[in-house]
Amino acid sequence: MTSSTDTTVVPAHHYVPENLPTHIQHYINGKFVDSVGGATFDVLDPVSNENYATAAAGQKEDIDLAVAAAREAFANGPWPKMKPRERARILNRIADAVEAQEARLAELETFDTGLPITQSRGQALRAAENFRFFADLIVAQFDDAMKVPGAQINYVNRKPIGVAGLITPWNTPFMLESWKLAPALATGNTVVLKPAEFTPLSASLWAQIFKDAGLPDGVFNLVNGLGEEAGDALVKHPDVPLISFTGETTTGQTIFRNAAANLKGLSMELGGKSPCVVFADADLDAAVDSALFGVFSLNGERCTAGSRILVERAIYEEFCEKYAARAKNIVVGDPHDPKTEVGALVHPEHFAKVASYVEIGKSEGRLLAGGGRPKGLPTGNYIAPTVFADVAPDARIFQEEIFGPVVAITPFENDDEALSLANNTRYGLAAYIWTQDLTRAHNFSQNVEAGMVWLNSHNVRDLRTPFGGVKASGLGHEGGYRSIDFYTDQQAVHITLGTVHTPKFGA
Ligand code: NAD
Repeated sequence: MTSSTDTTVVPAHHYVPENLPTHIQHYINGKFVDSVGGATFDVLDPVSNENYATAAAGQKEDIDLAVAAAREAFANGPWPKMKPRERARILNRIADAVEAQEARLAELETFDTGLPITQSRGQALRAAENFRFFADLIVAQFDDAMKVPGAQINYVNRKPIGVAGLITPWNTPFMLESWKLAPALATGNTVVLKPAEFTPLSASLWAQIFKDAGLPDGVFNLVNGLGEEAGDALVKHPDVPLISFTGETTTGQTIFRNAAANLKGLSMELGGKSPCVVFADADLDAAVDSALFGVFSLNGERCTAGSRILVERAIYEEFCEKYAARAKNIVVGDPHDPKTEVGALVHPEHFAKVASYVEIGKSEGRLLAGGGRPKGLPTGNYIAPTVFADVAPDARIFQEEIFGPVVAITPFENDDEALSLANNTRYGLAAYIWTQDLTRAHNFSQNVEAGMVWLNSHNVRDLRTPFGGVKASGLGHEGGYRSIDFYTDQQAVHITLGTVHTPKFGA
């Protein structure tokens, strides 16, 4: 691919954290173990693209063992029956441990994923917060009771469901694992986690954190491996009634099909191509800051990236000029250097995919910044923050999720056109709206096809709100009480108070 000469770089050096494991195992029933058949896969770091470890490659028999342990811990162990406060104490200890290991977690995450170190640090704190949040929620949780005067009292008996299968992607792996682990465990389920094969390093830290916090053996099980092997076996296992999946839309479709035989509960957080809509009355400088962060943070490898920027014609050229100038200034390079704003993409396969979209973009839009590998970074998975303007709505870079530091900018003439452009993709995860006009903001929010909308902001989460997408971006919502609902059964218990009128058949 061509190189980009106008990118600001910090040179990469191959920083390797101390005491790195050379082999990553499963964790089943309180013990670190290898695959029964001894299978392994190689794990590389995205700066050198050299293998630094092998990981146990879980097969069906390994998933069977993990599910059996989780099933036993659910059926006969203390966890599902504990009082919420007792479980919450353990969840808070987990949060303390995650926080205490922040620096170590951050360096491992940055080493394994290529995310800039300043952004990995935030991930550990967010992971801890997820545990604290659900600890609070289960203690405060109460359920409905309904009275039919003189006839019935009915109440909801909320119960954990069983073994939850958790399948997670490689972008911000530890934080996204916490997003599923915390509510699944808080509600009394037991779990089998299958982390992404590109980034198994940080997931192995959970085992010790959980053990030290007092989580009973068998409640948390971890099986590493490829999606088509370990992930597939988990999805098809008859003793796993729930699958919570975050990943690509096409993988979600496969999982949906494979879960049908056992009619599993499914929660799916899938891909996105979210619009960032900037009206002429917006605070332009704030919009530029936010739209840059919204797509170039986390190396652009974020599901909620505002990767299509739609700008009202009156400010279009000014916006493009300011945006491109800043994109050229973004510091790309060594993920461990605190100056770095965009690090290395996770894996050479993903790098090749993003690089191919950069080339496609050159015939679909006007290249304003980036456009290839930054000069000065000849190796590693680096791509310069790349900005295309004048991108037509039928362009591939407008329609398809790139999941890298690449953005498409398109002009619009009026509110109707902005809305129709915003909705013109198969995805519907997030939307970002920039305007000072409240009526317009509310009307646009009502009509935009997105699971989540932010007004005059990038993605700032409130953990109580529903998280999820519509259309090809997902199925169901997690977040706050929605997560509690997904991981529990709400059994209706009907208590008869009076005489029940019963037709006397056969009398
Ligand atoms: P992916 O779909 O390739 O893999 C995700 C996980 O699924 C991995 O653990 C993988 O091993 C497993 N998997 C793959 N095939 C499987 C199969 N047949 N059966 C069971 N499991 C299988 O996704 P990725 O490349 O790791 O992650 C990037 C994608 O995730 C992007 O599309 C991004 O938008 C999406 N994502 C969405 C959200 C959200 O909340 N909506 C958050 C983060 C990432």
